[in-house]
Amino acid sequence: MSSQAEPKVLISQQEIAARIIQLSSEITSAYRDKNPLLIGILKGSFVFMADLVRVLDFPLEVDFIGLSSYGAGKESSGKVRVRRSPGSEVRGRHVLVVEDIVDSGLTLAFLKDYLLEKKPASLKLCALTDKPERHRVPVNIDYLGFTVPNKFLVGYGLDWNEKYRNLPDICVLDA
Ligand code: 5GP
Ligand code: MG
Repeated sequence: MSSQAEPKVLISQQEIAARIIQLSSEITSAYRDKNPLLIGILKGSFVFMADLVRVLDFPLEVDFIGLSSYGAGKESSGKVRVRRSPGSEVRGRHVLVVEDIVDSGLTLAFLKDYLLEKKPASLKLCALTDKPERHRVPVNIDYLGFTVPNKFLVGYGLDWNEKYRNLPDICVLDA
């Protein structure tokens, strides 16, 4: 793919910021006294995580897990691997997984099993975006930012071949 079109804004940085404030009040009600462990899925969730934690005004901890399900293209390989495990002890913690986008749901299905084996006190999911049309396995998202169309998205942490993560808005990349 050599002639790549310019990404087009789908969800602006202002809309994202406003939605994160709404999510933060739901998350605060549930977790304010629980010292939760937020686990972001690398690399895509790093921007969302950074914006989310700065509007959560109570004690919490942050960690990341490196997973890979995608090759260099736009389709999930269906196989998930742990590339970097979280350093934090998960046992007995209230864990909130922070994900950039749910597509087939295979990454989260894998991660749920992986984390449940470590016996957290609770395990919930916060996803910035979800493409329900693409689910191949059932996914339960406890805190969802936006339902998005079945398009390939970049920006706000999301990449195409490692590019575009730094775009401030969530954009559609047309082939
Ligand atoms: P799933 O396992 O749900 O199919 O894939 C989840 C992961 O695939 C996401 O965390 C993200 O890294 C990647 N992904 C899925 N859809 C998109 C998309 O539209 N754009 C980008 N950049 N990555 C995506
Ligand atoms: Mg991801």
